Parts: sequence; structure tokens; C-alpha cells
Amino acid sequence: MQQFDAIVIGAGYGGASVAALLAHAGKRVALLDRMPRAAGKVQWLDRRGYKIEAFGAVGIPAENSRFHELAALLGFGERAEFIFPQGDMARIYYKSKSDGWRTMLTGLKPSEFNPESMERLKQTLGVGDEDIMAMASVYATAMALSDEEIADLDDTRFSDWLRPFGLPRAMVDHLGLTMNALFTVTTDQLAASEAVFTLRQLVLGGAGRYQKGGYGRLAEMCAEYVAEHGGVYRPRETVSEILVENGRAVGVLTKNGEELRAHAIISNAGIQPTVLQLAGPAHFPADYVERVRRLVPSLSIAGCRYVLDTPLFEGAFITIFSDEGHLDDPAWAAMLRGEWPEVPPIVIDVETAFDPDMSPVPGHQIANFQVFVSADPKSPMADEAIERAERVIEELYPTLKQHLIRREPYGPRMISSMTRDSAVPGAGGEAVGLAQIVGQIGKHKPDARTPLAGLYLVGCDAGGRGAGTHQAVDSGFNVAAMVLEDL
Ligand SMILES: Cc1cc2nc3c(=O)[nH]c(=O)nc-3n(C[C@H](O)[C@H](O)[C@H](O)COP(=O)(O)OP(=O)(O)OC[C@H]3O[C@@H](n4cnc5c(N)ncnc54)[C@H](O)[C@@H]3O)c2cc1C
Repeated sequence: MQQFDAIVIGAGYGGASVAALLAHAGKRVALLDRMPRAAGKVQWLDRRGYKIEAFGAVGIPAENSRFHELAALLGFGERAEFIFPQGDMARIYYKSKSDGWRTMLTGLKPSEFNPESMERLKQTLGVGDEDIMAMASVYATAMALSDEEIADLDDTRFSDWLRPFGLPRAMVDHLGLTMNALFTVTTDQLAASEAVFTLRQLVLGGAGRYQKGGYGRLAEMCAEYVAEHGGVYRPRETVSEILVENGRAVGVLTKNGEELRAHAIISNAGIQPTVLQLAGPAHFPADYVERVRRLVPSLSIAGCRYVLDTPLFEGAFITIFSDEGHLDDPAWAAMLRGEWPEVPPIVIDVETAFDPDMSPVPGHQIANFQVFVSADPKSPMADEAIERAERVIEELYPTLKQHLIRREPYGPRMISSMTRDSAVPGAGGEAVGLAQIVGQIGKHKPDARTPLAGLYLVGCDAGGRGAGTHQAVDSGFNVAAMVLEDL
């Protein structure tokens, strides 16, 4: 039986970062993940030499982020090469009932917006100067709020916060789709505090960070760091149980029947699987267990990974939407009833636009499109979403099929099998983790210190804030500080 200071279950960005930070502080850490490669939801897949992002990855903020802080602290230097495309790398497609498709290319950073790009935005969305001023006022207000004022927005829905600015519908949809993509929840559920916090990061640091070698490369480097600093990193190692003795988490049991012990057990496996399955509800107060069961997961994403024999998609990041709207509660309820918009909101990440070396063949393109679906791994929604989205993409790129070398559909079932077990009905395939919605965010968010002594949560369910992977790394920093204080 091996003894460690800390055992981390899962090497997603939350788990990998907390493990490396604890190793950096001199602790002996075991990092275990059931997958062959670290990075969880942003790991890459090897397909005959093509390095394909499993689920898609574009980071916000692109600069001055927790990723940069982590790489600097761990001394990765130039080995952690961050890529941030400059210039007009984002394409918008907007379909209006009256005029059909309009499109534009733009920058990924508000500071790249200039009179010319504003003119293109006005034409694409069919809005006027006063509407652009109203949008500027949204950003200015977000920037002017103090941290306390942002925290006061925990109980305010983003849609309610946005309404008084009087934006025209097309701009509400544009901003709404950005929020849908960042948080994978409807704008009627999204807590304004999280939205405003991330809007500020967007203004200060832009969108679209990537890393040479794959979006998950920094997580892989963190896992390697643990092994190089007195600890152990074990891929392909599933934890089947958290061991509890005398009211304290003391270790883990692996699927192979091995027992590992530590003073702190930190789980990146998700709050519901951790509490309800790995440790078991008997070790927690009944009201906590009930709360954990009722936590709402973010929505999921379905899509396709493409390898193309030519650079078909221009730019690095493409958003496609229409005057049928973004994802608010009524739109989502209609989709659940099977009433789909003609253009479901779609996002396309083009990873080779960030790092061409992800393809072994120069000029080949790797891209990944995404549509919103239920987090339920058993939901049949993904197939229909993919079919509908592909119809729209083929309308915009009629030669798509003839350039396809590889096409891999995915959805919540695969997301769950690769990253998070389904511990309550309807959950497991969530794209982010706990939904960043009113009632379970900020002061209402579960504590990363669980009521079971010695057991901590890390990743998108506790301990951090921000969009997707940034929330996970923020949690890694905060939970490392918490565990070091307790050890
Ligand atoms: C399709 C899609 C697109 C996305 N696009 C973006 C994007 O562009 N930008 C962005 O910032 N975010 C994006 N996200 C969200 C982002 O990927 C997640 O928010 C983030 O990666 C979650 O990190 P995490 O540390 O919380 O956990 P995860 O990434 O879920 O990692 C959990 C890890 O725990 C391991 N694990 C679970 N159970 C066990 C067990 N019992 N034993 C051992 N190991 C276990 C899993 O194998 C996994 O590696 C996207 C997500 C999806 C699904």
C-alpha cells in the first residue's frame, strides 16, 4: 500500500493543475486518470497521425489568463507555447428571414474592433449606430462594476441584466450565443455574475487562446510535472472507491484492486459521481446529499470532428445563427419538444488555424462543429442535432462532403464515457460541469471542501469561476491553496 500527501482522481484541467501545484509545493502526489491521456474534456485523439481535439477548445481569456500564471509558476517557459491568432480570425454567419445569409470576418479581441469592423457588424446584423453604442455600453458597464457589485449579481439572470440596455434582437442573439457557447446554459438561467466576470476577461484578454501541440497540452505538462517531482502519474487508472475510515477520507481503491492512501483526496470526477458513487451517500449529511442530487448540470454539446483535404473553413472560430434566436429558456424548451429552429446555433472550432502542425499533412484542415443538446447520455437528441447542423453547414460550404477525409460524430454519451459517470438521471454528458446558473453559483456554489473530512472537489463543479477550462484551472489554484492550508 502506497502513502501520499494527496491523491487526485482525474487529470482534467482541474485535477492536473491542482496536482502539479501541490507537487510544486513539495507534496508527494498521486494523479490517477482512467483515460490514456490527461486533459479530460480537452484531450486530443490520435487518428493516424492527425491530432484531433476530442471535443473542441478555444479559451477565454486568451491572454493574461490562469493558464499563463500556471505555466509561469511551474517554470514551463517556452515549452508552454500559447497561440493567439491575430487579425480577422472569427467568422460570423447570420441568417435573416428577409435577406438570407450575411457574413463577416472579425477579430477575436474587442480592442481589434475598429470603425471598419463595426461597419461590417452593422451590415451583418442589420443594426444602426445607436445599437453599436448600446452594445458598447454593455461592455462599459461590465468593466465599471466592482467585484462586490458583480457578486451581487449571483441571483440575477443574465437575460434580465441585459434587457435594460435595449439592444436590438440580432445583438441580443449574438451576445446570447456567445454566452451559450461559453457556459453551455440558456441565457435565462445563466447567473449574470458569471457572465459579467467573463465579459470583463474577454475585454481584457480577448478570445481564442490555444496551445502548440493541443489545447490540453498544459494539462499533460502538469501530469508530467507531478511524475518528475516525487509523485506518480498513472493514466489508464480508474478509481472505483474512495476509502473512508472514522469519518475521514483516507485513500482510494483502484479498479485493479490496489489501495492508495493519502491525507487529502481531491476528486476531479464531478461532484455527483464523487459523493453519490465513489465515496457513497452514507458518509455525508442527508441534506448535503439531497442538494448534490438536485444540482443542475450544464447542457451538453454534440457535433462532428472533421479532417478535410483542404482549408475549407476560413478563420479559427465560426459562429452560425439566425433571427430565430439564441438559446434562451423558450428556445430550449421547444428543442426538447422536438421543435427545432431551421438554424440551430452552431459553433465551429478550426484547430489547424491555431496550430497547423496538428495535421501531419500540410494544408489539411481539422475542425470541429458543436450544437447544444441535453446532458443526458441516453438522450436521442444528439443525432438529430448533428443532422440539422450539418444541413446548415453544407448550405454554407457546399463542397464539404467532397473534402472530407474523416468524420467522427460525438455527443453526451461519449463525453460521459470519457470524462464523467452518470450518477443521477439526465446527467453525465454535461459539457462544463455544474451549470453556472442562478441558485448554484458564487455564494451558492458547493464548497470545494466537502463535509467529509479529507475529501475535496476540484474542476468545474467547485472552487473556481470563469468559462470552461479557465474555471477548472482557477479551481486548481484555489483548491491547492485550500489543501496546503489544511495539510
Ligand atoms: C464539446 C465540448 C466543447 C468544449 N469547448 C470548450 C472550449 O472551447 N473552451 C473551454 O474553455 N471549455 C470548453 N469546454 C468545457 C471544458 O472542456 C470543461 O469545462 C473542462 O475541461 C472541465 O474540466 P474539469 O477539470 O472540470 O474536468 P474534466 O475535463 O471533465 O476531467 C475529469 C477527469 O476525471 C477523470 N475521471 C473521472 N472519473 C474518474 C475515475 N473514477 N477514475 C479516474 N479518473 C476519472 C476523467 O477521465 C477526466 O480526465 C468544452 C466541453 C465540451 C464537452
